[in-house]
Amino acid sequence: MNNISFLQMVRNFATEAKDYIKQGAPNVTESQYAERVQTCDACPHLERKDMRCGLCGCFVEHKAKWQTSSCPDNRWEKIVVGETGKKINISGRKNDNTEDVNGTQPTNTED
Ligand code: SF4
Repeated sequence: MNNISFLQMVRNFATEAKDYIKQGAPNVTESQYAERVQTCDACPHLERKDMRCGLCGCFVEHKAKWQTSSCPDNRWEKIVVGETGKKINISGRKNDNTEDVNGTQPTNTED
């Protein structure tokens, strides 16, 4: 791994996980996921032994799935959270900008 300490790896993951959860756990579409994973696969920073990013230490399989994640080397296209999906109201209340889906998580797997 590229001189990244275990503690820093944990901090990076915790920061990414906190942002992901705070934003409502939005995932990318299948095509966005495939594009990110292909970019990581061709990246010189990928640690193939355990499929971690050598710069942040995160597992790319999970990191690539979260809309809130970004590539530490700016190799991924930027994704605005909510741009490709609908905002939902997890509590079940409806208003003009949300859709009542009875507490289910957004799957957001289609383009
Ligand atoms: S997240 Fe970015 S720097 Fe890390 S392995 Fe993927 S493309 Fe490379």
